[in-house]
Amino acid sequence: MARRTAPSRRAPRAESPRTARAPKGPGRVVEPPAQPGKAPFDIDPVLGRIREAVRHFADAAMFALAARGHDSLFEQLVACILSIRTRDEVSLPASLALLQRAATPEALARLSPEDIDTIIQPVTFHEAKAWQLHAIATRTRDEFGGELPCDAQVLQSFKGVGPKCAHLALGIACGHEAISVDIHVHRVTNRWGYVRARTPEATLEALEAVLPRAYWVELNRLLVPFGKHVCTGTRPRCSTCPVLRFCRQVGVTDAR
Ligand code: SF4
Repeated sequence: MARRTAPSRRAPRAESPRTARAPKGPGRVVEPPAQPGKAPFDIDPVLGRIREAVRHFADAAMFALAARGHDSLFEQLVACILSIRTRDEVSLPASLALLQRAATPEALARLSPEDIDTIIQPVTFHEAKAWQLHAIATRTRDEFGGELPCDAQVLQSFKGVGPKCAHLALGIACGHEAISVDIHVHRVTNRWGYVRARTPEATLEALEAVLPRAYWVELNRLLVPFGKHVCTGTRPRCSTCPVLRFCRQVGVTDAR
């Protein structure tokens, strides 16, 4: 059970869990409730402060791979599948090991699923992912001439690829304006009170209605490290958070 801090040291709380409850059905954009001492929520300074705050943290795995030259759509899709339910500290070395062995669909299709499984052993669900990756490589070689098209529908037609991976890979590799909502983006944007949604899918829908397009790809890049180090799943570090004055802290009941 999480240890509680003395009330006097807690960061100020926003709404009670009762008022913070998200509505049923699709996500929606809400006007964050006014609170004494809080500034009106403004996404520009909020993301500017977070950009500065995460400068010294490691990039999320797919951005880190792109910075190392693994920035093709195929490589990004492979890396995203490996990152599902797996920490970056594990998925990034596994992605590098696999891509150093086979960075193209043709090369990956030449490996057997068993070979791929051996290389990606540390990754969660490695056996199922090995078969999925082999199928994607084979289909890309046979149906698309070895080059994946920048098409979300095509990417999501592959087993194991949902909107989160498709959007992030398309944003990084193809320059598409697409929001990728993982558990960090979902949690943080709902705590801000910027959107109100029960699921990452509903959060995506709500963000598409309100977030300026210039931030659609960058949002994931900023909020993954911010969610890992500052706005953590349990006991977020609100007292030292750079966006405390803007954030409605929806649903936060125990903060550091
Ligand atoms: S750490 Fe606290 S103040 Fe900062 S974004 Fe998360 S909930 Fe808001």
